[in-house]
Amino acid sequence: MVVIMKPGTQPEEIRKLAEKFEAMDLKVGVTKGVGCSVLGLIGDTTHVSENEIMRNEHVERVMRVQEPYKKANRKFHPEDSVVNVNGIKVGGGNFAVMAGPCSVESREQITSIAREVKGYGAAMLRGGAFKPRTSPYSFQGMGVEGLDLLMEAKQATGMPIVTELMSPYYCELFEEKVDLVQIGARNMQNFELLKEVGKMSKPVLLKRGLANTYEEWIMSAEYIMAGGNENVILCERGVRTFETYTRNTLDVAAIPAIKRMSHLPIVVDPSHSGGYAWLVEPLAMAAVAAGADGLIIEVHNDPKHAKCDGQQCITPSQFGGLMQKVEALTQITGKTIVH
Ligand code: PEP
Ligand code: MN
Repeated sequence: MVVIMKPGTQPEEIRKLAEKFEAMDLKVGVTKGVGCSVLGLIGDTTHVSENEIMRNEHVERVMRVQEPYKKANRKFHPEDSVVNVNGIKVGGGNFAVMAGPCSVESREQITSIAREVKGYGAAMLRGGAFKPRTSPYSFQGMGVEGLDLLMEAKQATGMPIVTELMSPYYCELFEEKVDLVQIGARNMQNFELLKEVGKMSKPVLLKRGLANTYEEWIMSAEYIMAGGNENVILCERGVRTFETYTRNTLDVAAIPAIKRMSHLPIVVDPSHSGGYAWLVEPLAMAAVAAGADGLIIEVHNDPKHAKCDGQQCITPSQFGGLMQKVEALTQITGKTIVH
């Protein structure tokens, strides 16, 4: 249930009303908007009477929320959320680009790619240390050593780092070393992992599962938020369809649809969506045009010899060309590229 207060209601009145709901065993989230404040009630509201609430002179409107997601619901929080990743803002008009290799391979590799993408305007450095590979015989990532190399690249460039967490076992280590914790497509519905990430203080990049609906995806965000971590960024990375020419099919409609359903920022991964370097730029442009809040792009200085996903990595100079076009397009969508 959502209670919308009249514009100009004093904080004291909002607090009094919130306390009344809390006494009814409900959790109350208060969002202060530009015009008015909104109270989001979580819990069993079947016994709560709308008429009774409307008797409070400061209440403008009461709405029952049918959707199973509450904290992530746009109705609970009408304005765009802005997630702060160690000083880099994402959402609410702030457009952030994350770039880097699929996986960390060596100190030389990650530091030089980091320097180059930073020079072309990336705000954050991506790089997998723990890799979810289809084959157990493929390169599994450098693990903890990879995390340390990412931290060195962060020190060299000042860019926050984003990397994938696959097991609750490493939550503590990620809490200490990582700026943005990525939950990959294959773990989007690993609910035990989501619960643990909900206890962390670091923001989360939640990728859409290989074949999940918008509602299932938002429910996974809700798991993290219900645990107390409300700093979630969603990432569309393409879904499985009958088409096999491309690795996945970028669902462009997800961007405006998610924005209707939720207040959380949404970024797009054109690399895993298309699966080929030549598709990265057109898909990135489509994402920006549709209103995305950022991009996450695989960039490698030697794609032919990359240990993972070389076919979809673009080179640093191709990334530079892409950034110029993205910059021009964000002017149309009214977003500011953040660094
Ligand atoms: C990745 O970003 O490296 C990755 C494995 O992505 P996804 O989980 O979307 O497949
Ligand atoms: Mn990859």
